[in-house]
Amino acid sequence: MPDQYDVIIAGAGMAGSLAAAVAAKKGLKVLLLDRNKEQEVGKKTNWGWVCGDAVADAHLQFIKSKLGLTFDYPELDVKVDGVLVISPDLEYKIPFEGAGYVLNRPAFEYKLMQEARRNGAEYMPEFEVEGPIMENNYITGIFGKDREKQHREIRAKIVIDALGVATTLRRKLPDNPYIDKVVDVADLESTGRYIYDFELDHSDERFYDPKNALIHLNQEWAPGGYGWVFPKKGTRVNIGIGVQKESLEIRNKKLGKNDTLHTLMDEYVKHNPAIKNPRLYNENNNGKGYWSVAVRRQLDCMVFNGYIGAGDSMAMPNPISAGGIGPALVSGILAGDAAARALNDGGPSTESLWQYNLDFNEAYGKKTAGLEVFRTYLQSLNNDTINYGMRMFLTAKEAEELSYGMIPELSLASKAKLVLKGASNIRAFQNLLYVVKKMNTLNGIYEHYPSNIKEFAAWRERVAAEMEEAKQKFKPNPV
Ligand SMILES: Cc1cc2nc3c(=O)[nH]c(=O)nc-3n(C[C@H](O)[C@H](O)[C@H](O)COP(=O)(O)OP(=O)(O)OC[C@H]3O[C@@H](n4cnc5c(N)ncnc54)[C@H](O)[C@@H]3O)c2cc1C
Repeated sequence: MPDQYDVIIAGAGMAGSLAAAVAAKKGLKVLLLDRNKEQEVGKKTNWGWVCGDAVADAHLQFIKSKLGLTFDYPELDVKVDGVLVISPDLEYKIPFEGAGYVLNRPAFEYKLMQEARRNGAEYMPEFEVEGPIMENNYITGIFGKDREKQHREIRAKIVIDALGVATTLRRKLPDNPYIDKVVDVADLESTGRYIYDFELDHSDERFYDPKNALIHLNQEWAPGGYGWVFPKKGTRVNIGIGVQKESLEIRNKKLGKNDTLHTLMDEYVKHNPAIKNPRLYNENNNGKGYWSVAVRRQLDCMVFNGYIGAGDSMAMPNPISAGGIGPALVSGILAGDAAARALNDGGPSTESLWQYNLDFNEAYGKKTAGLEVFRTYLQSLNNDTINYGMRMFLTAKEAEELSYGMIPELSLASKAKLVLKGASNIRAFQNLLYVVKKMNTLNGIYEHYPSNIKEFAAWRERVAAEMEEAKQKFKPNPV
């Protein structure tokens, strides 16, 4: 008899382990697969658990409310009051996303996998998933290589894809009218980060703040993205940058430079005056790594016959902060729930899994299309305009509201009476008003995410048309 499970969860990262924990808790026969050795569960690539590792407390509270699972040291490395976004001229700071933690990522991932096991999931490390098994237009399992490098096929009624941004499952789905198989390169950030021990040269909270996660907006240092300095225990730091490919190319051409992600990362560390004598902290070979992160709205639909996607495999990270841990945790829990619900009632068809789209939309996703427009707008501004805009266009409170996808409409409109200097600044402000309006429209469309499969095509066309208009208006223009 071939192996047969209720649910296979491919990828034991944040999303996968939680999906397994929930599905097993609901009584399903669950297999959780990951390519890593057990002690390295959740490691993204050979480069390690590449991430800034900052997560808002609200997301951990969501896990507690759904699973009763709580966290402490060592998996929570340090507590931070919040994330502060700093302007290119370093003059302005805007709070973002509220209080949270910088994680000890290997310890956190291990704890989630153990929770899945504790609830009854079977965990199989060192399994490389190569693709989905398809029968009669249903996903009915996965194939891949086990730890002996033997080809294996394993069957299940539902497969949850939690393989992260480079998923071999989503990309090999049959052509279908629901799930995009490819993410546009303009919606990806190339990212890299170091974990360093260092000596504090002098206190300068614009560059290192033991109580806050710092984000530097700067189109020359990190074109189309940003740099970050996130504190860890003692004088240890997670420091890195993300760049958009096209923005980097434009910036290099205009400045006559030949920078890459790697050279920009090293410059970013070198130019940080608070950090002296950085030494790679390389426990678990996790000190230095590169990876990509999608910064768009989550895929329009995330279910197909026998298939549910969660976390980075569905492009869930926040379009402006690239924060993907929160949505991965939330979607993992919802995906486990959705699998159990469908198998108890209706089976694994796209129709019967559909409610998952609505659940994620409600819990997290309905703001992300608007934020994708805001990200595209930000990428069209140079440092001078960002400086001016952060000073003149928005109060800190309004900016924080925007970061949550809320629309500070009235006060912005009243600011139309502001006396603004400089043609490009006036244009940027007018464009901001356009963005806010567009965010409002998109938030409205997502408030009415289709409750059934039949309305999906028309809804999706509306989203695509709104998004296309904004993307035509704002082109990368970093310097
Ligand atoms: C440099 C960088 C910095 C970031 N900083 C932050 C931050 O500070 N805060 C934040 O919230 N988010 C951040 N993110 C995003 C965040 O890391 C991700 O959103 C999050 O890890 C997504 O979790 P996941 O479970 O969906 O996928 P992943 O964490 O990618 O987990 C996928 C799992 O599947 C395994 N896998 C993949 N392919 C296969 C295969 N073929 N066979 C078997 N196993 C496989 C992987 O090894 C891994 O264990 C950052 C991302 C990057 C790249």
